[in-house]
Amino acid sequence: MCGIVGFAGSRSAAPLLLQGLYRLEYRGYDSAGMALLEQGSLRVIKTRGRIANLEEKLEAEGPFSACCGIGHTRWATHGEPSDINAHPHISDNGRVALVHNGIIENYLELREMLQKAGFTIRTQTDSEVVAHLFQMYYQGDAVAALGETVKRLRGSYALGVITADAPGQLVCTRRDNPLIIGLGQGETMIASDIPAILAVTREYIVLSDYQVAKITAGKIEIVDQWGAPVAPKIERVTWDISAAEKGGYEHFMMKEICEQPKAVQDTITPRLKNGLPQLAEEGLTDDMLRKARTIHITACGSALHAGLVGKQLLERLARVPVSAQVASEFRYGEPIIGPEDLCVVISQSGETADTLAALRLAKKKGAQTVAVVNVVSSSIAREADGVLYTWAGPEISVATTKAYSAQLAALYLMAIRTGLARGTLGEEEARQWCKQVGELPRLLEQMLECREQMQHLASLYANRQSMFFIGRGTDYSACQEASLKLKELSYIHSEAYAAGELKHGPISLIEPGTLVIALACDPTLTGKTLSNVKSVKARGASVILVTNDPALRENPEFCDHLVRAPICPPLLSPSLSILPMQLLGYYTAVMRGCDVDKPRNLAKSVTVE
Ligand code: GLU
Repeated sequence: MCGIVGFAGSRSAAPLLLQGLYRLEYRGYDSAGMALLEQGSLRVIKTRGRIANLEEKLEAEGPFSACCGIGHTRWATHGEPSDINAHPHISDNGRVALVHNGIIENYLELREMLQKAGFTIRTQTDSEVVAHLFQMYYQGDAVAALGETVKRLRGSYALGVITADAPGQLVCTRRDNPLIIGLGQGETMIASDIPAILAVTREYIVLSDYQVAKITAGKIEIVDQWGAPVAPKIERVTWDISAAEKGGYEHFMMKEICEQPKAVQDTITPRLKNGLPQLAEEGLTDDMLRKARTIHITACGSALHAGLVGKQLLERLARVPVSAQVASEFRYGEPIIGPEDLCVVISQSGETADTLAALRLAKKKGAQTVAVVNVVSSSIAREADGVLYTWAGPEISVATTKAYSAQLAALYLMAIRTGLARGTLGEEEARQWCKQVGELPRLLEQMLECREQMQHLASLYANRQSMFFIGRGTDYSACQEASLKLKELSYIHSEAYAAGELKHGPISLIEPGTLVIALACDPTLTGKTLSNVKSVKARGASVILVTNDPALRENPEFCDHLVRAPICPPLLSPSLSILPMQLLGYYTAVMRGCDVDKPRNLAKSVTVE
């Protein structure tokens, strides 16, 4: 989380840094700041709150002529969101400015050591110590100083540093947090993510862990942790900046909801050859899929919810035992995993700290690994044995929609291929499944037609304190995602229960007027779910029923409101039933005046533990 930017060139740095920060604001919005070298001394402008607050402050304190500087938008981990804790942080002698993304785990011991050495600590952050350490080691060679500094750090970091005695120069490094270097014409920009560099260039280098880069207007020198020069690999952004802009929609989230048919289409189509999924080129060989004794899926948040659907798919289509676990638990839980197993990690950004750690653990234990990620060349993508990219395009809204849908699509293909590889699916059967998967983009378009209905339902229930989601099988997995969407966007308390579990406790929460949303898109289970619906209705609950069961679709008397979903195989139905739930979360949040694209306390790309 948090976004860092830096610029070195011959035009004014402040507007470019500001624009870059706006494009990184999805990563954190507790505070923002900038450091510029003006006439030999560092000027730091920083403030609590959003980038817009920083823009106001820059206008009031400007103009600025510096052609080199660094900027930061913060998601606070250590120290409250305040002016003083905002980055950049300045070293004790005022000659070093630094921005940091990550967590310095040993900051307390470093702080004590620095205080004993006479440094004054001014903030509550973990990041400030890094600026002082840099000052301690700095004798005119910023690359050497940064190399020495990071040797003292435990934790994760992407760092950008400028010094008062080196106008036009910035240095940067990273470990476990993303950092790219954009290569423009005679100008260079560093950033946590691609959208921030697009005003300057489409060409970029992904800095690897422990590498240190020295950057001046048109020159970049990169060394590895032993100081040996590194020849960078230049990559090119293939999508257009308009993909990362709102394009007439009021919020990124609504734009991204509407982009789901395309995201799913783009994820499926290039992989279907002769009607069957071909994944070997991406590192998912039949041999790997056949040999897996157990498949461990691990991820966080919505990606885990996609993984829960993936578990059911793989178990049903390929008859292989699958576990799906929260990455932060998996990594510390001593999982039973070894060379005979396959670990599948799922992450939109490809930088999720817990998921990356889970991947590394699985590799250390000798397991084969596959990543399902959206960001090309991200850390997870680079470290896994096989990568299934989700071609959802940049996702800006903090609450995921299209990346989740594309993850489901990638998992469908993987499950079908695994079934083929293990002989549990014949070619014809696999082709039939692929055909059904190929229908999803069209069905998603159809599902989008419920927008008005969901807006109306949101207007009826937006003032509720609490909501419940119930379902069975894949409907239950979709309920978990639906509940997360609602609570993260609208701040309404919500829970998802396996419908059969209600009677074991949660039903005592139902009272007259409680809203229960039931998903029933598996005809083999709708009868059972309906019994649960009746039992909550008998206790006075209001019920929204989302179903594709023809018998129920024509018989709305079981519920207060019926949302009709198109018919599709139950294993694929979460792709469709989640869409009205995303819309419910969206419209409820809008009606409650919440910041839809940037919900409180959250940030996208969770690069801290
Ligand atoms: N740990 C730093 C802070 O709290 C950076 C946070 C981040 O990377 O999100 O200021």
